[in-house]
Amino acid sequence: MKPLLLLHGRVIDPQQKLDAVADVLLAHGKVVAVGPEAAAKAPPDADRLDVQGKVVCPGLIDLHVHLREPGQSAKETIATGTAAAARGGFTTIVCMPNTAPVIDTPGTVSWIHEKSKAEARVNVLVAGAITKGLAGEELAPIGSLHKAGVVAITDDGHCVQNNELMRRALEYSTMFGLLVMDHCQDYSLVTQGVAHEGYYSTMLGLRGWPAEGEELIVARNILLAERTGARVHCQHLSAAGSVRLLREARSRGVPVSGEACPHHFVLTDAALAGSAEFWRTDGKGLFGYSEEAAKPQWPAFDTNFKMNPPLRSAADREAILEGLVDGTIEVLASDHAPHCGHEKEVEFDFAPFGITGLETGLALSLMQLCGSGRLTLPQVIAKYTCGPAKLLGLARKGSLAAGCDADVTVIDPETEWVFQPEETASKSRNSPFYGWPLKGRAVLTIVGGKIAWRA
Ligand SMILES: [Zn+2]
Repeated sequence: MKPLLLLHGRVIDPQQKLDAVADVLLAHGKVVAVGPEAAAKAPPDADRLDVQGKVVCPGLIDLHVHLREPGQSAKETIATGTAAAARGGFTTIVCMPNTAPVIDTPGTVSWIHEKSKAEARVNVLVAGAITKGLAGEELAPIGSLHKAGVVAITDDGHCVQNNELMRRALEYSTMFGLLVMDHCQDYSLVTQGVAHEGYYSTMLGLRGWPAEGEELIVARNILLAERTGARVHCQHLSAAGSVRLLREARSRGVPVSGEACPHHFVLTDAALAGSAEFWRTDGKGLFGYSEEAAKPQWPAFDTNFKMNPPLRSAADREAILEGLVDGTIEVLASDHAPHCGHEKEVEFDFAPFGITGLETGLALSLMQLCGSGRLTLPQVIAKYTCGPAKLLGLARKGSLAAGCDADVTVIDPETEWVFQPEETASKSRNSPFYGWPLKGRAVLTIVGGKIAWRA
């Protein structure tokens, strides 16, 4: 592998508080130098790429991805999921354990590591289960999973309902400094809910998934994190109360964190009724689309707007945005959840939860967070780089400091494009964002010094 010199890009590395036009030299899988010495140190045989006008940043990290292997390769595989990740600008992803079999033994962790070595386009890190079979009844062998190399544990897709069992999981995790991630859902409150409980669920006759179903478990996790000292990360936050609880707990130094997904801070439950109402819910002019601009259209009851937790009210969306602005939420993630067409093409009640997100996450984040003036470009990049790297304890990722892994994403923040189904690298097409006019995308994704994807 030849050394690679990226010339004249705007280098943004929030970890180092760096934002300047500079060259970046990568060699032997590592960052060698950033700045004037990069070109000086480059050997004559180095590949040179002019990235003037583009943003060069640490490779993006997505700590919430469903790769569906083993066992559900009709939806996605390690090969296709990581190809979608590379297209989306992600160089490292964390795969969730709700596979078949569940990732609750060291053997399954090793199987994914081996298969990823052979087939993955980007770095694949593994999250193991909290409980055996995600059944919520008996702890998985957390120590053995840690030894096998998981970077976190979670029952994602499910939620441990037994508080005593969750407490034990947290206590065990502290023995290894392992991060515990949680899909926050109280089953007794949520029951068979499919849509945010509110005006639209009532109007459309859909069973309600109340915000309190999430907030109760966020509160539970805060109390147990405080009791045990374990690090707890609340996944895909959707409700205003969750943000409020997290903000208060973090201000007191409780080791809890949260993540937000683009669909929750872009869309609202009005989307379930079709597009017309949805655009009126944001006074700021969503994405800076003008009133006259052609806007995406879709029918009511489109199952590509069904996810868990559900799209919530405009007030909840605003609270998530505020949490991102004030730093309560330091991590952005996709919750990329591929499903086959035939699974989604059924009545809303019966469709599985989840949408794909690896290829649209960056653009939606740039538009809704940067384009609106809520956050700066370095602030958004931080939530995709040093934010998740710090949480996962990845010392050599999430930064372009010399010696870090040569994972780099080159972004064109100005390019306008439309997400088309035939262009996706994912095996599934369950995205609500097809046909949307988008702005900003990764144009070059470099993993370990090698080009994984190029526009
Ligand atoms: Zn989940």
